[in-house]
Amino acid sequence: MEIVRTLEELRAAKKNMKGTIGLAPTMGFLHAGHISLVKRARQECDHVVVSIFVNPTQFAPNEDFAAYPRDLERDAALLKEAGTDLIFAPMDEVMYPQGYQTYVTVEEVTKVLEGAMRPTHFRGVTTVVAKLFNAVQPDKAFFGQKDAQQVAVLSRMVKDLNYNLEMVVCPIVRDRDGLALSSRNTYLDETQRKAALVLSRSLRKARSIFDSGERSSKAIRAAMEDVFAAEPAAKVQYVSIADTETLLEIDHIKSQALVSMAVYIGKTRLIDNTVLGKPDESLD
Ligand code: AMP
Repeated sequence: MEIVRTLEELRAAKKNMKGTIGLAPTMGFLHAGHISLVKRARQECDHVVVSIFVNPTQFAPNEDFAAYPRDLERDAALLKEAGTDLIFAPMDEVMYPQGYQTYVTVEEVTKVLEGAMRPTHFRGVTTVVAKLFNAVQPDKAFFGQKDAQQVAVLSRMVKDLNYNLEMVVCPIVRDRDGLALSSRNTYLDETQRKAALVLSRSLRKARSIFDSGERSSKAIRAAMEDVFAAEPAAKVQYVSIADTETLLEIDHIKSQALVSMAVYIGKTRLIDNTVLGKPDESLD
């Protein structure tokens, strides 16, 4: 496994790759969720490239860019073990050379949910992922359902900009107690980690009443609010029941709906989701 930090090194490494390339973009501080993307890429592609870059443009000034956990050495060991061929860990000035002024924006689907709460976030995500696609030129790109809106936004970008690649969406990986894995879970102390289980608990509640026939978003939301009310350490920022493609809110669920949320546990902002009307083994 090779680690490259510049575009020149990346191009040289790519010259030796014959066959298909799978790319899993990450911000590092890897956990089993990231590794599941790598393993899937390993199964589906001849070469596996993982990028590690804590992308400054997707963090607002008041967010945790500086505090975001980083450990390249540990990440490299995990990636080697999982069967990665190449790590692309560009330096900031490679991705954002001095005088940088070019951005990719996706319009409607970035205006709701995470985009409504973090107005500059997706512009940073689409810009950096477009740059990674241009640099690596993968045949398949692997992303997690954990960031459901990110998948919707990037799928739109791939269609709209005619990227010649397939988006592969991998299921959410959770700890045994149900907490969705996230690099940000490292911010939680023991008590907060217990409180954070309220996210998956509320999703399970939503699934159970949907499965018993409830189709009203209002009723499902009310049941979820009861779950949150029992956990005073959780401050809900939003709970959404939305169309799985447009991500616009729906009142009555016909076949499927994306239930997603952002919740503060102390200062840590956590997100989670499930698709009602679709199997979700991670919550069984
Ligand atoms: P990040 O490093 O947080 O930018 O995440 C990199 C990729 O890993 C994204 O496609 C995420 O959706 C995916 N990912 C993060 N956490 C999980 C998880 N718990 N299960 C599955 N995929 C995940």
